[in-house]
Amino acid sequence: MKQVRTRFAPSPTGYLHIGGLRTALYAWLYARKNGGAFILRIEDTDIQREVAGAKDVIYATLKQTGLDYDEGPDVGGDFGPYIQSERMGLYKQHAEKLIALGAAYRCFCTKERLADERARSEARGETYTYDKHCLNLSKEEIQKNLGAGLPYVIRQNIPQEGDTTYTDMVFGDITVPNADLDDNVLLKTDGMPTYNLANVVDDHLMGITHVIRGAEYLSSTPKYNHLYRAFGWDIPAYIHLPVVMKDKQRKLSKRHGDASFDDYIGKGYLKEALINYIALLGWSPGNDQEIFTLDELTQAFSLEGLSKSPAIFDTDKLTWMNAQYIRALSSEGFIDRAMPYFKQCGADKFDMRLIAELIQPRLERLAEIPEKLMFLTAMPDFDKALYFHKRMNTDAAAALPVLRDSRALLQQQTDYAVEPLKEALAGLVEKLGLKNGQLLWPLRIAITGTAVTPGGAVETAYPLGKEETLRRLDKSIGMLEK
Ligand code: GLU
Repeated sequence: MKQVRTRFAPSPTGYLHIGGLRTALYAWLYARKNGGAFILRIEDTDIQREVAGAKDVIYATLKQTGLDYDEGPDVGGDFGPYIQSERMGLYKQHAEKLIALGAAYRCFCTKERLADERARSEARGETYTYDKHCLNLSKEEIQKNLGAGLPYVIRQNIPQEGDTTYTDMVFGDITVPNADLDDNVLLKTDGMPTYNLANVVDDHLMGITHVIRGAEYLSSTPKYNHLYRAFGWDIPAYIHLPVVMKDKQRKLSKRHGDASFDDYIGKGYLKEALINYIALLGWSPGNDQEIFTLDELTQAFSLEGLSKSPAIFDTDKLTWMNAQYIRALSSEGFIDRAMPYFKQCGADKFDMRLIAELIQPRLERLAEIPEKLMFLTAMPDFDKALYFHKRMNTDAAAALPVLRDSRALLQQQTDYAVEPLKEALAGLVEKLGLKNGQLLWPLRIAITGTAVTPGGAVETAYPLGKEETLRRLDKSIGMLEK
């Protein structure tokens, strides 16, 4: 059997969006699972839409997520160049070949004529397709036009009768009447190929055996198959992937600025969690396993698990999964990933291990860290009303004596560690005849200045250290005494 060769063929028109990354992941998984090769090709023939820096983002994201490619622009390979704008000669040569084969023709129609034709067919309530006007030009007319230097495009000559059928490995048999297929442009006036020509030429010349791409290409694939047949080339296997939706109605789309991989990383999602979640957008392992490493995905992946129904990108589910991944990190691993956020809020000046213990089990996204740890470096001025807690039946007035007693106890405490501190405070609660919350609630407010902290009074007081805790208590007691 031929070696499996798959490719990811993004256009560098923005940052790598979720749908694109999913295509890359499935193409990578299929290649790795079958001992094949995974190829990266940059489709940059739409110069107007190219975004500076987008190519580098593609390279970096694939490397960062572990989707290594065997051939590609920055790694080389035997079938390059892997950037379409560097393959211009090939497209021109193949377009000319199609003319010679009768599968394409030069079209000299002006913009004005095309606009008129379109308006007329729309007025008749029809979907516009080009009327093959230039297919009927005589050899002499063509020579005359060329001699006069008239600009032209090369169009595909699609038969008008019959149907074209192919079998997609996910969507099954797809049949399209040829009359519905437009004689689209293959090579533009400036010599740039369109997707229609470039995808066929490149997939063939690069030996791609399985074309894995979004379902938006499902219905135009018959056109590409006409080109394969005209050239006498083998048609690759097609695997079209279901659309990714933002909700029941709307597609997730990079043109509408929907989140890219980098946006999610910026929001504090782990790359492993993203890849894991994306893998399940349109593919299912056939059992209820949800957490997969990339290796496990490679083992489990199969085309049978792909679905044709649209997949909904569920941010809550992703967030849940991310929390699982954060919890599963080793303490060192967590500290490593969290460090940029620790630095943002000054938490890096504390005992990292303690902070990790405090916060790692309570995070859904790394980007929540600064807000949760702000109390470490700054105690905000706060309103005495914060001491009020209805259910615990406590308020500022009740807090003052309790805080004074707590301060005295903490001052005396020699074994300043979480468990001994908890025990000592529990003893005080009993001695004063209070409920736990009537001591721990005001204490936590007095130490942190906020009602939302990642842990209880002791867990937050401990990393602050004895001296700082007492200093804060003094300040808060002073406020209450005023
Ligand atoms: N450049 C196309 C895109 O970004 C690739 C489609 C394909 O994989 O063939 O949509």
